[in-house]
Amino acid sequence: MGKTFIEDIAQRLRIIPDLDRERAEGASGPLRSFPDPSEWHDHVELDANEWPKMVEKRYSLVPTTCFNCESACGLLAYVDKDSGRVSKFEGNPHHPGSRGRNCAKGPATINQINDTERILHPMKRVGPRGEGGWEKISWERALEEISSKIRESLKTGAKDRVVYHVGRPGHEGYTNRVLKAWGVDGHNSHTNICSAGARTGYALWHRHDRPSPDHSNAKVILLTSSHLETGHYFNPHAQRILEGMMDGAKLIVIDPRLSNTAAMADHWIPTWPGSESALFLTWARMILERGLYDREFLEKWVNWEMWMEAEHPDDTKEFDRFIDLLKEEYAEYTPEFAAKECRIPVEQVVEVGELVAGAGSRLATHVWRAAAIGNLGGWQVSRTLHLLNVLTGSVGTEGGTSPNSWSKYKPSLFDIPPDPEGWNELHFPPEYTLSHYEMSHILPHLIKDGRGSMDVYFTRVFNPVWTYPDGFSWIEMLQNEEAVGCHVALTPTWNETAFFADYVLPMGHASERHDVNSYATSSGKWVAFRQPVLREFARREGREVEFTHEVNPGEVWEEDEFWNELSWRIDDGTMGIREHFMSPYREGERITIDEYYQFMFERVPGLPEAAEAEGIDALGYMRKHGAFLIEEATYGKHEEEGWPTPSGKQEFYSNSMVEFGYPEHAIPHYRIRSHVHPDNLQGEDEYCLLPNFRLPQHIHSRSANAKWLAEIGHRNPLWVHPTDAAKLGVGEGDLLKVETEIGWFIDKVWVTEGIKPGIIGCSHHIGRWRRKQDSGNRYMTNEVEIEDVGSGRMRMRTVNGVRPWESDDPDTNRVWWRDGGVHQNITHAVQPDPISGAHCWLQKVKITKPSGDERYGDVEVDTTKSFEYYKRWNQMAKERETHPRGERRPLWMNRPLPPSKDHWFVDLG
Ligand code: SF4
Repeated sequence: MGKTFIEDIAQRLRIIPDLDRERAEGASGPLRSFPDPSEWHDHVELDANEWPKMVEKRYSLVPTTCFNCESACGLLAYVDKDSGRVSKFEGNPHHPGSRGRNCAKGPATINQINDTERILHPMKRVGPRGEGGWEKISWERALEEISSKIRESLKTGAKDRVVYHVGRPGHEGYTNRVLKAWGVDGHNSHTNICSAGARTGYALWHRHDRPSPDHSNAKVILLTSSHLETGHYFNPHAQRILEGMMDGAKLIVIDPRLSNTAAMADHWIPTWPGSESALFLTWARMILERGLYDREFLEKWVNWEMWMEAEHPDDTKEFDRFIDLLKEEYAEYTPEFAAKECRIPVEQVVEVGELVAGAGSRLATHVWRAAAIGNLGGWQVSRTLHLLNVLTGSVGTEGGTSPNSWSKYKPSLFDIPPDPEGWNELHFPPEYTLSHYEMSHILPHLIKDGRGSMDVYFTRVFNPVWTYPDGFSWIEMLQNEEAVGCHVALTPTWNETAFFADYVLPMGHASERHDVNSYATSSGKWVAFRQPVLREFARREGREVEFTHEVNPGEVWEEDEFWNELSWRIDDGTMGIREHFMSPYREGERITIDEYYQFMFERVPGLPEAAEAEGIDALGYMRKHGAFLIEEATYGKHEEEGWPTPSGKQEFYSNSMVEFGYPEHAIPHYRIRSHVHPDNLQGEDEYCLLPNFRLPQHIHSRSANAKWLAEIGHRNPLWVHPTDAAKLGVGEGDLLKVETEIGWFIDKVWVTEGIKPGIIGCSHHIGRWRRKQDSGNRYMTNEVEIEDVGSGRMRMRTVNGVRPWESDDPDTNRVWWRDGGVHQNITHAVQPDPISGAHCWLQKVKITKPSGDERYGDVEVDTTKSFEYYKRWNQMAKERETHPRGERRPLWMNRPLPPSKDHWFVDLG
């Protein structure tokens, strides 16, 4: 892409930077003036606050990684050597994933650690659960009380009554190891409200359950959502998408909403939600018809013969015949059909299809969240999207799309306890045979249905009361002490779920904890170290620290040491737990946190050698640099490893789908119409509510304490197209009542052409609340009143919006915004996809004007209706429940924290 005439003049006049130089050095080049890591403990820069005086400040720069999304970008904490406090965070240029860059949420870590309302001490509830009474307790007491409850549960022999439910993970196997040491099938996650749909589609192809597109080297970048701004992997992907575009790649974005990403695209395709598979299959047909498929890849690496055997047994098993049959199979997917289903111009289908079909091995595709988690059958979106990679032979290629696990390093652990001897049916109910992750979003309903209960329930950086659909059912479950014997919330900041806990235990933010990270944010493979920066600073200064809470604010701890300590105390000497917490270096003694990471880093390929070259050990290297590049690029691993599927190939034809009762979905197709397909809406009166997007500066539920982020964006109006606004008779700022299947909420209108007509957008990452008796997050929480109006009906009303307040931070008194948005998720019904188990986020809604005294921010939900509605969706899975050979789910498919194989079978007796 050359310079324009105007750019050329502007550059010569030095109005803009030297573009030629920047291009020559490349967007991936090193930052030009960053100090070398050898100088990081003695960094001097001028104090900006003292300007115009030239006052020097001395810093120790300590690397860590960001915890504000999954990408784990590198951060450098500037520790002021005089005060011993962190002054700011910048990017770590030595981190291979982020290369010195961050999004707004990285530097805003400073807001989180200085939040004047953060939880600094362990808290225990006083009075009934959820009423808001708390007392400060010691760690000693918290550990003793919680460990004895767990011991009591474990001694009953139950394997499913102590549960750890994780929101933001990022600790690569740490807690799974702990749960295995306890012997429980107790891992639960948030994945089925996030990525379980996309994962299922990918796993059916090749067991690996997410994609790693090589944007930088692509010819065509095809995104089925808004990754450039907000998705996985946000900043690392965004910078590589831009690199690809600077090298001439075309960006195609499929999204009913004009996201920031779509605004950057060469082609924005606002499909009707759930119709994406029709578009991809049309493009697949174009590739086939035009002979642009990669014959060599298909013939060698795809299980086409299995399909022929099963569906066309009388045909000759020849590849050319396969292609002919495939053309017949997909003949229905004409451009006109796609245009009709997607509600887009047929010319756009063809024009963009030609780009995709011509991308060859350099087609980088990605779907995460978005359509794959929005719709009934959303898993077919990733299944059909990956078909385009398979046909073009762009699987595992430079500029193509690889499985993410090729670029993800799995750390070696010092001890691996045996797999749990049990199966938790509250997490994997038997009717959800193919659910890729735990059925976490229906947990309250399963419990209400009498299918189990929990003795000790840990929620960890997790806020289902607010983040999940149907939050009142979560409140109902958490307040029921029969259902949840003890609820322990591990969290760095107050949240709506912690309000309903028995213990709230303060955990560290990014710079206050240990974790090891490795994610497929590029085509290479890297490992990074999230370390508590004040602990490392103390070490550099020659001070010994035993536990991280000694250097953190208040008594804020980290999970690693907490779990070790808790596990030790659970075991009364008879339970065999302690043997999994012994030092691999010192016979008969307990492992320390340094030893845990020492063991791990000593086994990272190439790291000990790199460390030795600097005269330090592997742990020392990671403390100093914060990250290490293991492999530059991970293309083509299937050539050595094959594919970990039953056929050893890419599974175009899934025999598992056939065996588990879904034969009509054995190959990629568009046979499931979304629950928000126009045919399923009642004419003009019903709309599709598109809630599953977030504003780029927000973290799911941990940014309401970050003042910079809250100031940038704090409300979630309804995106309404002008034609719909005219139909509804509303203008900018007017109120609308949005009625879901189980309740309603009232929000303000934003009239915009950035949303497809017939669809109402509303970000579900805004609308935080607290009651009068609750604390925290006042930058973004409305004060609400919750009223039980009987027969399962709950009402929430905003009594005060965001307001300034006095504190040690003068900025709290400068808060100028008043609108904290609306909590819409709580009005959403759960909609579990019968195959992937994913929550189908999109909602069928009726839209009217508010009446009577209905006000902005009002919410009402009928939890009786929500249970009945859950039952209807649950029935879809029950009707198709099939267990070939007694298998609960395909034995070859992954499961987080898999129990021992004996438990993968239902009792058919
Ligand atoms: S993309 Fe932003 S929030 Fe995510 S890890 Fe990087 S800096 Fe942090």
